[in-house]
Order: sequence, then structure tokens, then C-alpha cells
Amino acid sequence: MTYTVLSLFPELIDAFFALSILGKAVNRGLLTYRSVNIRDFAPDKHKTCDDAPYGGGAGMLMMAEPVGRALASLGIPNRLDMPGAVTPGSKPRVICLSPSGRPFTQEKAKALARETELILLCGRYEGMDQRILDAYVDEEISIGDYVLSSGEVAALVLIDATSRLVERVITPASLEEESFSGGLLEYPQYTRPERYGMLKVPEVLLSGHHENIRRWRLRKRIEKTLALRPDLIRQGEEAGLFDRETRIIIAELRNSGAG
Ligand code: SAH
Repeated sequence: MTYTVLSLFPELIDAFFALSILGKAVNRGLLTYRSVNIRDFAPDKHKTCDDAPYGGGAGMLMMAEPVGRALASLGIPNRLDMPGAVTPGSKPRVICLSPSGRPFTQEKAKALARETELILLCGRYEGMDQRILDAYVDEEISIGDYVLSSGEVAALVLIDATSRLVERVITPASLEEESFSGGLLEYPQYTRPERYGMLKVPEVLLSGHHENIRRWRLRKRIEKTLALRPDLIRQGEEAGLFDRETRIIIAELRNSGAG
């Protein structure tokens, strides 16, 4: 997987790659990362990249020209110049981070982790001139229903969540039962010591009985999801995600008033 990030502050992304597990994945040749400073493509000598919005309103917008030139430098075609020439899959996917985008989820992370290259466009100020979205961007993605001041933070979220799903970046066993896999949150976990103040590690986890541990963990996942994210249970039911064992436990817990 190659991540190419276009930003006015690429140092933010560079630092994250230098300090996280991603740096190791880059050194092992599993990921490639490059950043592009949009300011390098500003046409004037003051390197201006923002201007006031037409029609008035607060704040500044990122200007189309520097961003368009930065994308063109990567060989990304302007689809308005060449209608029909750009077919899906014929070029890397261009994603603009934006609060107006489709919500980012674990499912979406899995789908994006299968791409060979992602081009991530980070906004600043009040966002991006619409013509960049029209001409170059395949998809807008939001990391949640709130407004950040910068797309870099959102791009880092997307990179972090997708890169750990790229083959061999982390061990596959870590991914199997974690939150959202199979439509459930993760079970509670404990490490040493056995007793922490008044709190003891649940007996079953000390028993060494693998089948009992498996059943306890599944039950805890369901209990926790019913209590904290009943919306995930409803979605899982609608999508037919749950096996018979899971469905029976959900029914039991509902009958006992858990959700
Ligand atoms: N005026 C815009 C907000 C701009 S925020 C609006 O009301 O929609 C500045 C930049 O931060 C955006 O261009 C985008 O790149 C990034 N950003 C802010 N919130 C985000 C979110 N929830 N998800 C992804 N990117 C976000």
C-alpha cells in the first residue's frame, strides 16, 4: 500500500510515520509513504493557497489552482478535461477528508486496505474549492460528525485504521476478535496481577479451559455491545452477521432485560 498525502502541513503526517508502528512497516517494505506540500504548487511568489469565498461568509478557502497542480504532479487526471478517459481502477483512489463525506467505519477501512495506493487530500480553513472535488476527487470521507480544524488529523485516522489491516503490518490474530469484527465490540481483557485492589480477574480466565473461555468472551462481547452500542446489534441482525450461538445469547440477554 502506498499512501500519498497532500497537505499544507505535511510535517504533521511525516512525524506520525516517523514515530509509530507505521515507520517500521515502511522500513519492512510493507507500506510506502510520500507527502506533497501543496504550498510548493502555489503559482505566485507569496505561495498563497487560500482566499475568501465568493458570495461572502466567514473564513478562507483552499484555492483550486495549487491543489490541482499538486494532484496533476502525481499524474492524477482532471476528469473534466478528459471525460471518459478516467475509468474506475485506472488510477489511484483520490480521497478528500471532509465533514461532508461518507462516515468512515471499520468496514470502509477494510475495503480501503485492499487498494494499492490512496491519495489523501487534507483541507484547512473552511475547506476546499468545490471544483477540486468535481475535477479530481473520487470520494469524500468524514471521520465523524464533528468539525476538525484540519484534514491532517482525519487523514492520520484513516491511515492508522487502514494500514494495520494491510497484510503483515500486524499479526492477523490481533484482528480476529477486536471491536467491530463480526458486528460486536471486544470482550474485557485483563493482565497481571490477578488482584488489583478489590478487583479480581474473572475465574474462568484462570481456568485454562479454552472452550469455557471462548464462550465467556463471546457472551461478554454481546453483553457489552447490547449495553453500549445496541445500534450495532440491530445492524448485525439486519445484515445476518450473527451465528446461531450468538443469536441465542442475544435473545437470552434481551429476555433478561439487557437491551
Ligand atoms: N467549513 C467546513 C469545515 C472545514 S474544517 C464545513 O463546515 O464542512 C477544515 C478541514 O478539516 C476540512 O477541509 C477537512 O479536510 C477537515 N475536516 C474537518 N472535519 C472533518 C471530519 N469530521 N472528517 C474529515 N475531515 C474533516
